[in-house]
Amino acid sequence: MNYCYVRLFMIVILSVFDSLQAQTLNHYHYEDDEDNELVDVSIIASDDLPYDVDFTVDLTYYNELASFGSSFYTHNKLFLHKNTARKFLSVVRECNKQGYRLIVTDGYRPAYLQKKMAELFSIGEKSSLCNDVHGQSHTRGAAIDAYLIDKNGVRIDWEVLAFVMLKHGFTPFFDDKTHFNDCDSDLYKVLNVSFDELVRRADGVVY
Ligand SMILES: [Zn+2]
Repeated sequence: MNYCYVRLFMIVILSVFDSLQAQTLNHYHYEDDEDNELVDVSIIASDDLPYDVDFTVDLTYYNELASFGSSFYTHNKLFLHKNTARKFLSVVRECNKQGYRLIVTDGYRPAYLQKKMAELFSIGEKSSLCNDVHGQSHTRGAAIDAYLIDKNGVRIDWEVLAFVMLKHGFTPFFDDKTHFNDCDSDLYKVLNVSFDELVRRADGVVY
């Protein structure tokens, strides 16, 4: 009888542990980007005339490099999954037509950096970095952190950008108003390629 209770207890403990583990990035298989799914958005935006767009890349974890250490973002470059990039450029084009500029503060984030950030900021004001729903979308190259400014540099209400994002296939979040998920993000792989490697590869890749 006692043995049955112990077994039941162990099963409950193991299932709780399993579900907790499923919520962490460790659960996911990291992949190299062998199919070149990630693209340098600035390159396709300037190479392709149909994408006559203008936006600013100002990555937070590149700018805050000094406080994080040398292993965080090593380039101020926006990489996204190629499908997400297409949607993103449609968003930028529409924002430009309305006279606004999109400032992008985060895009693709290698899985090893997401894991490191989650460990560093498990508590405190940056604990939202541990939010795996948002973090994993970044590791798939399928999330953007961004906001809009007008010609005078004044920040525009979130609702304006949220509406345009929704229209072009992104999901906005009330609790994280700079974060937008590609609605197809779950279809893409969690990737673990460094910025240095992506830049090296982008030099020889024709999109
Ligand atoms: Zn985000």
